[in-house]
This record gives sequence, C-alpha cells and structure tokens, in this order.
Amino acid sequence: MRYPKLREVKEALTSLFSKPYTNRYPFQPHYPEKRFRGKPEFHKEYCVGCTACAQVCPTNCIEWIDDVASNPPVRRLILRYDICIMCGQCQANCITEKGIQLSRKFELAGFDREEMKETQENELLLCEDCGEVVGTKDHVRFIREKIGALSLAGENGLLLLQEELNLSPGLKGKIDLPLKRNDLFRILCPKCRRDLHLTDEWNLK
Ligand code: SF4
Ligand code: SF4
Repeated sequence: MRYPKLREVKEALTSLFSKPYTNRYPFQPHYPEKRFRGKPEFHKEYCVGCTACAQVCPTNCIEWIDDVASNPPVRRLILRYDICIMCGQCQANCITEKGIQLSRKFELAGFDREEMKETQENELLLCEDCGEVVGTKDHVRFIREKIGALSLAGENGLLLLQEELNLSPGLKGKIDLPLKRNDLFRILCPKCRRDLHLTDEWNLK
C-alpha cells in the first residue's frame, strides 16, 4: 500500500479550510482575468479605417463596405463576433495599436445573428475625377502624423491638410474634363493622377 506524501496531505487539509477556487457564476458575476480574450471591439477614436484588421482575420469575420452614395461617403467596417474565434490577430496587427481591442466580455450568446455585430465608420476620400476611393480621411491624417512633413510629398495628403486649414477654397467645384495642369491640385486617385501626368494636356498647357 502506498501512503500519501506529506505535501498532498497538507494540500488536502488546506483546501478543507479555504474558499473554493471556482465561483458561483451565473448566480454571481464573473470577472475574467486581465489577459482574457473576449469580444473584439472597435475604439472609434483610434480606428482610422485602414482595413488591416479585416485582411489578417483568419475567419473573415470583419468585412468593409465603401458606401460612396451616403453623404458624406463612408467606409463601414462590420465585425461579426458570432464567427470570431478570439485569436487576437486584429488587435496585434492594428496599425494604430488601439483601433480594435479584445475586451473581457464573454456572455455573447443570442438568438439573432444579425444583432451580433460591431461597426465602425470613417469618412472616405474620393477621387474628384472618377469617384474612385482613395482611402479614408482618418488614414491619410494618420500617415501625416506618423511620417510628418514627408507625407506632404504626396499631393492628396497636402491637399487634405490645405482643406482642413481652409487654404484652398479656389480648387473646389466641378472638374472640366479633360484634366488639365491645375487639376493636379485636386484630390485624385493614383490612376487619374498618373493619366494627368502622362497626358498631352500636361505638355501643352
Ligand atoms: S479576434 Fe481573430 S477571428 Fe476575431 S475578429 Fe480578430 S482576427 Fe478575426
Ligand atoms: S485602424 Fe486598426 S481597427 Fe481600424 S481598420 Fe485599421 S487595423 Fe482595423
């Protein structure tokens, strides 16, 4: 017959007189540990709508829609937490590091999957010529803050800054096609800007 070791006897006696490790959830609230990975949530003041989180999500539970018909046009990120596996890749790869974070919320069961969504909206920057999406205004601002004056080498970053400072009121209004040299001082997508640089108009006017 094997006799219990002293350590095991001590643990058995200690547990007889100590509180249970488990708690009485759901009869009492449960507070998970700090590093618990629960429902991911967007933090609106830090999310710039870059879509990096959606592109690394292994279950494709984050999608984005560019709603160019709304006023103002917006990029809408939709996170379906009913198919989220709480892996934390979105948080780890967020370019601002705080745009999306896994909360400690774990009571996520429900009857209607349509309600199991988190959303985030950022205003879009559209090409003034073809209407193509250039990106979100918040993303352009974030890059400007990140790399400073270097970002002003790109016309769109510079133009958005001018607009914010109300320095370019003369550049607004309908574009008179084809694009001309002064249209360089408009928000344009990479394709229209390249076409403008290569067009004969550029050489002639
Ligand atoms: S935690 Fe993982 S599965 Fe859930 S949204 Fe983030 S990347 Fe996707
Ligand atoms: S800022 Fe972060 S949370 Fe927002 S879209 Fe980009 S990666 Fe996702």
